[in-house]
Amino acid sequence: MKSIIQKSRGCYFCGTTKNLEEHHIFFGNPGRRISEKNGFKVYLCDQCHRIRESSPHRNRKNDLMLKELCQKEYEKTHTREEFMELVGRNYL
Ligand SMILES: [Zn+2]
Ligand SMILES: [Zn+2]
Repeated sequence: MKSIIQKSRGCYFCGTTKNLEEHHIFFGNPGRRISEKNGFKVYLCDQCHRIRESSPHRNRKNDLMLKELCQKEYEKTHTREEFMELVGRNYL
């Protein structure tokens, strides 16, 4: 499934269209599978994804920011209970 929070194809942080990678907003296990199934993902360039200090894999604040955005978007069409059932945690 495609991203529920990203409309354009380009790095979600810096906008470049080069070296894009898919970031699963809830990563690890079972987060990655849940993210894949529900479109909880964004495109990030390799720098923004893994290398820069702002990377969600290195920066807790940006990691949580994406999780919040994702929950907000999901709850436009689903209930909080449904989100909690999927992810097991409330980020809002
Ligand atoms: Zn980028
Ligand atoms: Zn990632």
